[in-house]
Amino acid sequence: GVRVRFAPSPTGFLHLGGLRTALYNFLFAQQHAGTFILRLEDTDRSRLVPAAARDIEDQLEWAGIPPDEGGSKGGLYGPYVQSQRLHLYSAAAVALLESGHAYRCFCTNQRLELLKREALRNGQTPRYDNRCRSLHADQVQEKLSAGIPSVVRFRLSDSLEPFQDLVFGFTQHAVGQVEGDPVIVKADGFPTYHLASVVDDWHMQVSHVLRGSEWLISTCKHLQLYRALGWTPPTFAHLPLLLNKDGSKLSKRQGDIFIQHFRQQGVLPEALLDIVTHCGSGFSSNRLGRRLHELIGEFNVSKITAHSALLDLDNLPHFNRVHLQRRIEDDALCRPLVDELKDLIAHSYGDQIEDQEVLQRDYIQRVLHFRKGHISSVKDLISPVHSYLWLRPSISREQLEQLSSEFREIAAKVIQLMQTEHTTEDLNAELKIASKTLKKTKYSSMMKILRVTLSGQQQGPSVSEMILSLGQKEVCCRLQRVLD
Ligand code: GLU
Repeated sequence: GVRVRFAPSPTGFLHLGGLRTALYNFLFAQQHAGTFILRLEDTDRSRLVPAAARDIEDQLEWAGIPPDEGGSKGGLYGPYVQSQRLHLYSAAAVALLESGHAYRCFCTNQRLELLKREALRNGQTPRYDNRCRSLHADQVQEKLSAGIPSVVRFRLSDSLEPFQDLVFGFTQHAVGQVEGDPVIVKADGFPTYHLASVVDDWHMQVSHVLRGSEWLISTCKHLQLYRALGWTPPTFAHLPLLLNKDGSKLSKRQGDIFIQHFRQQGVLPEALLDIVTHCGSGFSSNRLGRRLHELIGEFNVSKITAHSALLDLDNLPHFNRVHLQRRIEDDALCRPLVDELKDLIAHSYGDQIEDQEVLQRDYIQRVLHFRKGHISSVKDLISPVHSYLWLRPSISREQLEQLSSEFREIAAKVIQLMQTEHTTEDLNAELKIASKTLKKTKYSSMMKILRVTLSGQQQGPSVSEMILSLGQKEVCCRLQRVLD
C-alpha cells in the first residue's frame, strides 16, 4: 500500500513550507487509503530546538492533518525519531564499508577548510577531493588504532543516475563528477541526512517520497545508496518551491511564516491550507474556499507542475473571511466561535458591560451572522469600531441637537418600529417612510442620528444592520436614553 512520510528536522517550529509538504503527503495518503508517517530527523545535534518536535505535531493536529504513524501515535515501524534508530544507520554503514561502497576519511577540518579556500580562490565550487578513498586497509587500521577521529564517506560513482520524478519528470545528475564523496556518518557517530533518510525510508517501507525540490539533486545520491545497499528505491515526487509573491525565499527569519503565528492571529486552519494550495498546482480546480475534504477530492499528484508557487499572504485575510463565513453558517462549527467570542468580550470589556445580555449565546450568534463576510477573525469583533455591540455609547444631547432638533421624534418612531420584527429590507423601507413624516430632517440626517445614538460612532455597518444585530431590547434601551 501507499506509505508516505513528512520528515522535518526539529530545528525550528513548523512553518508554511513544512505545512505544505505535510499536507501534500497527507492528501496523497488519504487518496490512496495509505499511511501518513511523521518522522523526526534530529541527527544534527547542534541545531536542535527542544520545543520544535512538540510544536510540529501540535500544528499538524491543529491543521487537521495528523499523522497515522509516528509522533505520539507510534506505530509498528518505530521509533520514529532518528536519534533513537542509530543502530540501523550503523548497520548500513558497516555493510557499505564492507562492500567497499564507503570508506573512512581521516581528513582534518583544517585540511577541508584549506581545500575550500583554495577552490574559492580559483573561482571553483568547493568539493572534497576524495583523498581518503585511496587509503590502504592497513593505513586505515593504523589510524583507527591511534584513535584518530574519522568520518565515513560514501563512494559516489560517476554514473548519471537517471530517474523519473513524478513532478520534474526525467531527471539525471552526474553528482559524482560534480561533488566530492558525501559524509554519511559523522565523527560523533551520528549519520548525516542522506544515509539516515535512505535507511529509514527503506525500513519504514515508504512507497512515495513527496518532499521539497531542494532535495531533487540529492536524490541522485540517494539512488546510489539504495543500489549499494541492494534496496529498491521508492518513487519520488519533488514539490516546487514555495516563494513569496515577489519570488523571494520564504524566510524563517521573518518570523511570520510560523504556523503558531497564524494561529495566534486567529487564522483558521482551513484558510491556511487553502491559501498554500491555491497558489500552487496539483488540483483539478483552483477555486477559493476549499476545505480539507475538498482538497482530498481534488488533489492529483500528476497535476503538480514544476513551477514555483508564489504565495501572496496579503490575500490571507480574504481567505480567512471566506472560511470564517462558512463556519458561521454551519451550526456545529459556529458554536465554538460563539464561546471564543464570549470569552474575548468578557476579557476585554468585563466590568464595563451594563447588560449581561450581550454575553448570551443568542446575542453573540446574531452578531456573528450579521458581521460574517466582513470580519476575518472573531477577534475583529472586539476592536474599538465594534465596541458598541457590547457597550452602550455615551452621547451628548448637544451632539444630537446639532444633527437635528427632531432627534426625540426620531427615537420615538424607531422605538415604535421595534415593536414588530423586520427583515433588513422591511426595516429599510420603514425607516424611509418614517423619515418622510419628519418636518425638518432629511433621511440622511435621521440615519446619522440613529447611528450616533446606537453606536456613538460616525461610521460602521448600515443602520439597519446595527438595529437588527443589537436587537429590540438593546435598541429600545439606547433610544430611550435620548428621551429620558
Ligand atoms: N529533514 C529533511 C528536511 O527537513 C527532510 C527531507 C526529506 O523529506 O527527505 O527538509
